[in-house]
Amino acid sequence: MAQVYLGIGTNLGDRKKNISTAVELLKKHNITVTQISSIIETEPVGYTEQDKFLNGCLAIETTLDPHTLLKTLKLIEKTMGRTETVVNGPRIIDLDILTYDDIKVDTDELTIPHPRMKEREFVLTPLKELNPELVDQLNDARF
Ligand code: AMP
Repeated sequence: MAQVYLGIGTNLGDRKKNISTAVELLKKHNITVTQISSIIETEPVGYTEQDKFLNGCLAIETTLDPHTLLKTLKLIEKTMGRTETVVNGPRIIDLDILTYDDIKVDTDELTIPHPRMKEREFVLTPLKELNPELVDQLNDARF
């Protein structure tokens, strides 16, 4: 079983419900959700003419390899009605792979650890709540 941390965000519709729906859909795909961080309200980054986000982190356990996990997350986003919008634009749900055990992935469609997580307080704050050691390790050479 791989230990994985996901970032979750939403700024459209019933945001709290979107987060619980995503958690339920993860479970339906045989992904074990072991921890859910506090959910925080955050200002949009980049494209600022949009509503505030709810953001948090999930700890999951899965047998899916990283690329299959990414496909599953995209399928869940699509199932929930996500459509393509501008980069950093409004979204009903966003699921990102932050870390996957301590492996590195660097392909066109997938980079792990997530390349922008270190600059994002809305990722680091909830992640620190779940695993403070991991956040400290992000500054190690391994990452
Ligand atoms: P997003 O707009 O956050 O859903 O991300 C857009 C694209 O980023 C996705 O289609 C993925 O192919 C790519 N991507 C690269 N690395 C990651 C990652 N660690 N987690 C999720 N998506 C990623």
